[in-house]
Amino acid sequence: MSATDELLENNARFTAGFQHGELEAPPARPVVLVTCMDARIDPALALGLVPGDAHVLRNAGGLVTDDVVRSLAISQHALGTREIMVVQHTKCGMHGLDENALALRIEAAAGSPPSASVRFGAFTDLETSVRASVARLRASTLLLHRDRIRGFVYEVETGRVREIH
Ligand code: ZN
Repeated sequence: MSATDELLENNARFTAGFQHGELEAPPARPVVLVTCMDARIDPALALGLVPGDAHVLRNAGGLVTDDVVRSLAISQHALGTREIMVVQHTKCGMHGLDENALALRIEAAAGSPPSASVRFGAFTDLETSVRASVARLRASTLLLHRDRIRGFVYEVETGRVREIH
């Protein structure tokens, strides 16, 4: 049985007691969390979120990419959110990642190098990366609200969310 099949079995049990069918699409708390895909981060547990509470955007690193800005624009203009939390984390796989080595691994597997336009977003300093992500959002004219954008580090060692100023 694959991991996917196991999750589908879990879902069958989930639907038996499902109680969130009446939720509206706009988040109950008008906030968007941008964070890493890292399996150690559970935003609901770490921040006390329940279904319907908030938008959560995840990618490798919790980086502000073009697609994250796209989703934030929709979240603010169409679904009423007005606060953004950027939460990157300690021991992130993107921290110190060797982009050239990764490109070579992809080339070896695919038979051709990844497009020169592909950037994986490796960073060398965690707090600098958080500040850069927040600065990019504060400068984005696609966003409706830019006065409540804050950056944080989630410590995978302790579960603590620490603000970066
Ligand atoms: Zn990460």
